[in-house]
Order: sequence, then C-alpha cells, then structure tokens
Amino acid sequence: MKTLTVSVVTPDGPVLEESYDMVSVRAEGGELGILPGHIPLVAPLTISAVRLKKQGNTDYVAVSGGFLEVRPDKVTILAQAAENPSDIDVDRAEAAKQRAEERLNETKSEEIDFTRAKSALQRATNRLEVANNK
Ligand code: ATP
Repeated sequence: MKTLTVSVVTPDGPVLEESYDMVSVRAEGGELGILPGHIPLVAPLTISAVRLKKQGNTDYVAVSGGFLEVRPDKVTILAQAAENPSDIDVDRAEAAKQRAEERLNETKSEEIDFTRAKSALQRATNRLEVANNK
C-alpha cells in the first residue's frame, strides 16, 4: 500500500516526519482528507488538530494555523507552532485558556485585543483537545 511522508515544521524546528496512509486537516475552506497520489495543493490551515492515520491508528498534532502543501507522495505543514500530544503542557494550556477567557469578558477591551484573545483561546482549547487524545 502506498504511503505519504508527512512533515510538520515550525520556526523552532521539525515536529514530526513520518509515513502515514492518510492525513486529515481543517483548512480554512473546510475539511480535507489526503491520500497518497493526491493532486498538488496549497491551503491555509485553521487552528486545529491534524489527524494522521496509519494501519488503523490515528496520531494527532496540534497546529496553530499555518499552511499545508500537498504533493503526490508528501505532505508538508508549516506552522508558527505545532505540538505532539506528549509535548503539550496541559497546565500551561489551561492557564492560557483562562487568561483568554478573562480578556474576552472585559467589556472595555479594544477590538484588536478581542481578536488576539479569541485566537489565544482557540490555541489553548485545541492543545487541550489534542492532549486528551494522547
Ligand atoms: P502561552 O500563552 O502559554 O505562551 P500561546 O498560545 O500564546 O500560549 P504560542 O505563541 O502559540 O503560545 O507558542 C509559543 C511556543 O510555545 C511554541 O513553540 C509552542 O509550541 C509552545 N507552546 C505554547 N503553549 C504550549 C503548551 N501548552 N504546551 C507545550 N508547548 C506550548
């Protein structure tokens, strides 16, 4: 059976490089499922969990947005931040979630702070979900 080499890369270095049977991502345009032989594609990703399937098992990686590049035998994800479940510090994500929720509840906060707090909340929630799948 054909496989795909999947690389997840951040400014801090590689997070994952492995072969999988299928990759599922949440792009800004919707869910994408990628099998070996897929046509070349570039797509922006949302803050979400990348799902990587191999022989009936699923691995998860938390990505904070970024870009997906698909070639027939290779999937590359470039993200500002990405973590494997075992690398996620749950206490830190809980604290980030709480800080973001407090900011979102401040009625006098400016629009820009609101947008930043919403993104921070999404990153924290995504990390907590991925950490729970490890
Ligand atoms: P925080 O407020 O806790 O810093 P953040 O969402 O602002 O969270 P990012 O700017 O997305 O953090 O990430 C900065 C760096 O810290 C990245 O390398 C990211 O992988 C890492 N990181 C952030 N949160 C966690 C976490 N809960 N566990 C492990 N690594 C994390």
